Amino acid sequence: MHFEDFFTDRLSSLRDDGNYRVFADLERHAGEFPKATRYRADGSKQDVTVWCSNDYLGMGQNDRVVAAMHEAIDKCGTGAGGTRNISGTNHYHVMLERELADLHGKEAALIFTSGYVSNWAALGTLASKIPGIIVYSDALNHASMIEGIRHSRCEKRIFKHNDWKDLDRLMSQDDPAAPKLVAFESVYSMDGDIAPIAEICSVAEKHNAMTYLDEVHAVGMYGPRGGGVAEREGLMDRLTVIEGTLGKAFGVMGGYITGSSNLIDFVRSFASGFIFTTALPPSLAAGATASIRHLKESRAEREMHKANVAKVRAALDARGIPHMPNPSHIVPVMVGDAKKCKWISDILLDSYGIYVQPINYPTVPVKTERLRITPTPLHTQADIDHLATALCDLWSQCALARAVA
Ligand SMILES: *Cc1c(COP(=O)(O)O)cnc(C)c1O
Repeated sequence: MHFEDFFTDRLSSLRDDGNYRVFADLERHAGEFPKATRYRADGSKQDVTVWCSNDYLGMGQNDRVVAAMHEAIDKCGTGAGGTRNISGTNHYHVMLERELADLHGKEAALIFTSGYVSNWAALGTLASKIPGIIVYSDALNHASMIEGIRHSRCEKRIFKHNDWKDLDRLMSQDDPAAPKLVAFESVYSMDGDIAPIAEICSVAEKHNAMTYLDEVHAVGMYGPRGGGVAEREGLMDRLTVIEGTLGKAFGVMGGYITGSSNLIDFVRSFASGFIFTTALPPSLAAGATASIRHLKESRAEREMHKANVAKVRAALDARGIPHMPNPSHIVPVMVGDAKKCKWISDILLDSYGIYVQPINYPTVPVKTERLRITPTPLHTQADIDHLATALCDLWSQCALARAVA
């Protein structure tokens, strides 16, 4: 086989379909969130406004977070120096885990190098080590959960997205004595819809199942202390495991699970993806702890964020730009064509200094290609007007359908 030809072939078919991924080469400006410098392929630079960051609240540049990270580096140096078991556990990790357990009202927490790894390792471990377990997984679950479940080689059932009746139907068909686990998310990243957590918990309780909730897009964002949708709805105690990331609203990096002391100790003791990897740098743990503490006390970021999401939706509505209605902070502007989606995104960046990455297959189904806009508390009214006007121009140029008011 000619490997090089094979790679070239596959890549050109991705390009033909409009699904080839091009990374924007950016330098974020601390203190000027969400502004960045873009380095173009020809070596020139351009000022851009970022409209697709998962640093939803700008916490990656929050003074307290930045100061905590500087201080930790000055105190402890850069890396952790080992796995958690062999010399890598730093006091900052221990403090972060206590902070997270408290955030979700659980006995214990365990941190991982990313949210992806936390899902993959925790679900992989629970599902492979509990004999005869059946895992029920929402049809739109994130790749990290799917990979963890797949890796465990357990029995699995896929229930219709957010459909607790379908979940109940599937669970009723299985042996009542079989151990069961229901894995789902609170805020789904691409459509921005929110799961009926209470109903899913009721079905799980009826069938004596554990529940595993991914609150990656909700932690820091919802609930009076930023504990997520389950906190907002008073449901945290009904979930066996709450999983989250430190890399999105908390603005740093890393992932975690929270749950009972025994469950956390079990995953700590058996998860390969936890055991055999270097611990997060102490500075990341310090920054994440500062960020969580800040968002536990301060509601200002969440309130400003909510107001800006409403302003963006209103500006799009005023111009007939179709966006998916949903109860979250994610604004999916629907294009429905991979090539047009990529084209619009390219022109927004090159001609308007607006950076929104196109979202194409396989992240979303074919014909639902979109621009996933994530407003932040720090976008100004001028930024919002500029975005809406630019989209309006491009909608006309692409002859895309308008939403009817
Ligand atoms: C981003 C994401 C993850 C992974 O979190 P990282 O910290 O980025 O690895 C997990 N679940 C969902 C739903 C996500 O969107």
